[in-house]
Formats: sequence, C-alpha cells, structure tokens
Amino acid sequence: TAKENGRGKFCLFSAEMNQRVFEYIWLDTNLRKALEHQQLVIHYQPKIDTNGHVDSAEALVRWNSPERGLVPPASFIPYAEESGVIVPLGRWVLLSVLAQIAEWRRKGINLRIAVNVSPRQLIDHSLYNELKKALEDAQLTGCPLDIELTESCLIENEEQALAVMQLFRQLGAQIHLDDFGTGYSSLSQLTRFPINAIKLDQSFVRGVNLQPVSQSLVRAIVAVASALDLCVIAEGIETVEEDKFVIANGVNIRQGFLHAKPMSAEALEHWLKQRK
Ligand code: C2E
Ligand code: MG
Ligand code: MG
Ligand code: MG
Repeated sequence: TAKENGRGKFCLFSAEMNQRVFEYIWLDTNLRKALEHQQLVIHYQPKIDTNGHVDSAEALVRWNSPERGLVPPASFIPYAEESGVIVPLGRWVLLSVLAQIAEWRRKGINLRIAVNVSPRQLIDHSLYNELKKALEDAQLTGCPLDIELTESCLIENEEQALAVMQLFRQLGAQIHLDDFGTGYSSLSQLTRFPINAIKLDQSFVRGVNLQPVSQSLVRAIVAVASALDLCVIAEGIETVEEDKFVIANGVNIRQGFLHAKPMSAEALEHWLKQRK
C-alpha cells in the first residue's frame, strides 16, 4: 500500500500541475479570441463625494465567455499581465472607455472615469501616443480620465513610470495610487511621483468601525495624504458604519457595494437618472 500511496500522491500532484498548464493554455488561446470577438465588457462603479454626489466612476473589465459566463478580472488579469496580453487588452479598455465617455457627453452625462493600468502597459511606449490620438479623435475637451496604478508600477520601473505619469498629467489625466498600503512603496514615493489621489485598500476599510488598529492606520494615512495635498478615496465600503467612520476621519471619496456595485454602462445611466 506504500506503493499505492506514493502513486496516489504522484497522481494528485500531476493532476494539479496538469490543470494549471491546461488553464494557462486555455487562457492563452481564448483571451486573445475574446479580444477579437468583442467578448470583453466594461462595468462601471460610481464613486461618491462627501456631499453625496457622484464624483466619477471606475471602469472594471469583465469577460463574457461563451463557455464560462461572466468571468471576473481576478481570473484573467494576472495571466494577461504575465503573458503580455494585458497590453492590447488594456489598450482596448482605454479606447472603449473614451468612446463611452464621448457617447455619454452626447447624452448630457459628464463623468470622469478611472481606468486601471498595469505595469506592463506603462513600459509600453505607445500608450501615451495612443491615448493622445484617441482623445483628439473622440474630440474630448480636457482629459476626463483618472489612471489607477498600483504601488508595483512605481517600483518595477521607476524612471519609465515617472516619465509616463508626467506625460499623462500633461494630457490632463489624474494619477491615482490603487490598493494603497498593501504594497512596498515608501512614503517618499508619494512625493516623488505626480500623484493626485490615493485609494485606501479594502483591507483597511473592512470592519474599520470595530478595529482600533485599522482606525489608527486610516487616520495616519489620511494625515499623510492631507499633508501632501492628496485626495483620499476609500474602496470596498460595504456598511453604513464603515462609511460613517471614513467620512468622519477625512476620507474625500467613497466607493463600495454600499453605494453601488459595478454595473453595465446602460445600468449606470439608469442608476444616475434614478438618483436625481
Ligand atoms: P481594483 O482596481 O482594486 O478594483 C476594486 C475591486 O473591488 C473591483 O473588483 C470591485 O468590484 C471590488 N469592489 C468594489 N466595491 C467593493 C465592496 O464594497 N466590497 C467588495 N468585496 N469588493 C468591492 P473587480 O471588478 O473584480 O476587479 C478586481 C481587480 O482587477 C481590480 O482591482 C483591478 O486590479 C483589476 N482590473 C479590473 N479591470 C482592469 C483593467 O481594465 N485593467 C487592469 N490592468 N486591471 C483591471
Ligand atoms: Mg482600481
Ligand atoms: Mg483597488
Ligand atoms: Mg484591488
């Protein structure tokens, strides 16, 4: 039976490996196809200011797979980053968002949109030129975009990241630091990069009204941000208590299921109308 156990273990390990390899191959063929066949969709999640008004919205990509249904980004963005598909995928997101903003403007809806940008996209030289051209093509005055970067963007390629961020700022986009507090960036990076806002990670927000340690961290981060003249956005607000705590402690903008879940462009239009 020792032999059988050994065999059993080997089989289990092998099955797991096989599955991972299979998943990689499946994503590799199908994600590129998804881009070509327009299977990606963008949902939008509103962000609320301290007056209770809609400040802007975040664009969050989903994959409408014929085989798997609506696939969340966590299941394919890491793969896309690793394989490089994130470059054309991210370009598609950016251009689609600009087209959507232009359409909304024609309908009288004026909304800034935040777009998530991966480190690989920052290194890609063409991003800035594409964005510039797309803004001109869409005839959008100003640049109603907030570029959400994670701390790893700042660390992995400092010089290049700084240069691209400055170009984005010249175009009129704002730079927001996403998932703040979860990465390895130092406070000095907040001053070295042209950042407009930081997004407090959900892990600080979750149950913050009950957790003294999270409370201290939120207060400390807000203090640093306000000393540096940065806006603070809290993400992942799910309860009234979390919402009240962050407002009382100087957070400028709130985003989370309590206010609204990410929704299709059409659903957002409806949601905006109903709020009025
Ligand atoms: P993120 O940029 O930090 O986005 C926030 C995530 O938190 C979203 O997940 C959103 O649906 C979720 N969320 C918002 N409010 C709440 C809440 O109250 N409770 C909880 N539990 N979750 C909340 P989503 O849409 O699954 O996106 C996950 C991540 O995928 C994003 O995290 C972002 O890093 C990445 N991502 C999404 N779209 C894109 C994209 O177009 N490009 C790139 N590079 N990454 C993207
Ligand atoms: Mg984000
Ligand atoms: Mg985030
Ligand atoms: Mg996140």
